[in-house]
Amino acid sequence: MPPANRALEGKAAVITGAGSGIGRASALRFAQQGARLVLTDVHDAEADAVVRAIAQAGGTACFVHADVSRRADNERMIDVCVERYGRLDILFCNAGITLPKLLSHSSDEDIDRLLAVNVKGPLYAARHAIAIMLGQPDGGVLLFTASKTGLVAQTDSPVYCASKGAVVMLAKALALDYAARGIRVNALCPGIIDTPMLRQFADAMPDPGAAWAAYRAAQPLGRLGTPEECAAAALWLVSPEASFVTGVALPVDGGFTAM
Ligand code: NAP
Repeated sequence: MPPANRALEGKAAVITGAGSGIGRASALRFAQQGARLVLTDVHDAEADAVVRAIAQAGGTACFVHADVSRRADNERMIDVCVERYGRLDILFCNAGITLPKLLSHSSDEDIDRLLAVNVKGPLYAARHAIAIMLGQPDGGVLLFTASKTGLVAQTDSPVYCASKGAVVMLAKALALDYAARGIRVNALCPGIIDTPMLRQFADAMPDPGAAWAAYRAAQPLGRLGTPEECAAAALWLVSPEASFVTGVALPVDGGFTAM
């Protein structure tokens, strides 16, 4: 495709959790569409492999090790984007972890860690990104990976559900606060997507075989989603094609939340 037709040509973007799953697929897709990327993860080798794949395909990306539960790491990844590319057009807060435990089995440490990664990380990153985007004449775009569990509850994961509900409402609240100042904010709500996280989650269930069967049976479209299908929706939400879309929580869930 000629560069002039690429959806994110020249845009500078940060993606968290870019070494695996939905973040990895989004990094590859955004780069193919002309974005210049800062990719972050806690797994250096995996994210570095994504950077190399993008470079080999003629794209632009670099890696910054960032644990999104740390305020300083969130700020540094964004500062690197501005230092390297001169601006920050897109922040995609995608990194997240699960906690497949009943609340009665969840320790203080479990709860603190889950909320630090899934909720405080996006808060820290968004706060720093918004300060930069407000100084840009054309603002910017924030996207958070929430989940269908931010829209409808599921069993055995109350802390995770609470965290994703918080992310959905964060996106909506920020969308309202900054709509008039050129910053769009949305949430992506994946359903059951075949990624390493899902495999880890299913394998932690008391009966993993039954869990996989239930996942498949629960899908109106009759199959699990792919990271690439989430990346396609993420691309649209951060692109100028979605210029009148802000404050939405978009399910990418094969019809799951329609039931
Ligand atoms: P994934 O394959 O595990 O990829 C997420 C990446 O983020 C992993 O490399 C992960 O490392 C990393 N990460 C974990 N904690 C981090 C931290 N503190 N700082 C930086 N990076 C960190 O997961 P995924 O399925 O693509 O999930 C991406 C997002 O989608 C998450 O927010 C998740 O909650 C959401 N989601 C996924 C599904 C699904 O069915 N897969 C459904 C709904 C929502 P580790 O492997 O060490 O954790």
